Amino acid sequence: MKSLIRFGAAVLMIFAVRATSHAQARPLPSADVQKVYDRLLKQIDQIPIYDNHSHATFPDDSDMDAMASPPDESTVLRLRDSNPEFVAAAKALFGYPYDDFNPEHAKWLIDKKKTAEATGGTAYWDSILDKMNIETCLANRVVLAPYLDPKRFHWVFFVDSFLFPFDNHDQTGKNGDMGVYVPLQEKVLQRYMKQENVASLPADLAGYEAFVRQTLADNQKKGGVAMKFEAAYFRTLFFRDPPREKVEPIYAKYRSGGVPSEDDYRTFQDYIFRVLIEQAGRLKLPVHFHSAVGIGDYFSLRNGNPLNLENVLRDPRYSNVKFVLIHGGYPYTLDMIWLTAAKSVYTDSSLMGYYVYPSELKNILKQWISLYPEKIMFASDAFPFNDAVGAEETFWLAARSARTALAAALAELVSEGALTEEKALELARLYLHDNAAKLYGEMK
Ligand SMILES: [Zn+2]
Repeated sequence: MKSLIRFGAAVLMIFAVRATSHAQARPLPSADVQKVYDRLLKQIDQIPIYDNHSHATFPDDSDMDAMASPPDESTVLRLRDSNPEFVAAAKALFGYPYDDFNPEHAKWLIDKKKTAEATGGTAYWDSILDKMNIETCLANRVVLAPYLDPKRFHWVFFVDSFLFPFDNHDQTGKNGDMGVYVPLQEKVLQRYMKQENVASLPADLAGYEAFVRQTLADNQKKGGVAMKFEAAYFRTLFFRDPPREKVEPIYAKYRSGGVPSEDDYRTFQDYIFRVLIEQAGRLKLPVHFHSAVGIGDYFSLRNGNPLNLENVLRDPRYSNVKFVLIHGGYPYTLDMIWLTAAKSVYTDSSLMGYYVYPSELKNILKQWISLYPEKIMFASDAFPFNDAVGAEETFWLAARSARTALAAALAELVSEGALTEEKALELARLYLHDNAAKLYGEMK
């Protein structure tokens, strides 16, 4: 009994020492940070991922995006073909037997993927997810592909096309990027009109609004779990709030022809944008925004800055809408996490997870986790770069980078005395899986 009491006292003392050493966080990690990292990473690897944003696709599938890379895109260092990490990805996923992507070597990989595509069925992409312990994945596409298992891949559809129903000559003429993007939006709009049996633009604004609302409802019925704006590529993310009376005559004037003035077109877009947001709230469809740097030669950082959306995110009329600002607003990642202070705003680490190396992603995640850990999600933005380096390899790169960066961010916080390891793993599960599963209603 006595020894038991002594034992109890010793335990209490250990707790006391631990509690004191953890009472106040320190600015530098202790010498144990590597060990904590190793322990955490082992556990973090076991957490199934919910991927908030991807373009899971074979490279020759034109339904993968409503956008296209314009010519002369300048690529960041990590995404150039010369990055040896892509070889590591191909080895990890397929046992790729070479150490480079020389055309005669790359052919091995291209053939493997072409065979998978020709085989058909959903087993291939399921197996890719399995290799990275990704359980569920949102697929941002024009239409969901027959080769993606609907149990694992959920559809996010595009809505920017509703902003471009008029004569777009002035829009396409703005620059080379718009010359590529806008015709693709016109095609998506045509597709939606066909889907809804709308032969030509409705006679009045009320008719057009009804068409927009119905398309969203029907896309949701087809399995759509969220809608996505790529608007930052086309215009500012600052949307004004024009009265309907101002928009009705604009629609009437241009529905059957004529090139709208810049201001008229923008007024119309600002209004239709709000119709879309309002309908998203009614349907309980989360709204995704591209909110970060973008590809192309003319992308405007100022227009794409997520702070432009603040008036919409904080508008009490939209308090029932869930906003998901994807790509972390990169490089405005600190602004972004403060935008998620608003109740219905979320963000993810897609795109920046492979633009920067894990050491930098660690810094961003550490900041985010320390502020609003319930509002951040993993996402890959997996995308095929060419016939050899596909969405498969970018899934791998994004998932590996995020798991290691997350383990490092949490290891530092544990080692600095800010968190216990148990708490760290709880936060890891939120980021990798639970926040997204909860947002899309797949968890209680
Ligand atoms: Zn994307």
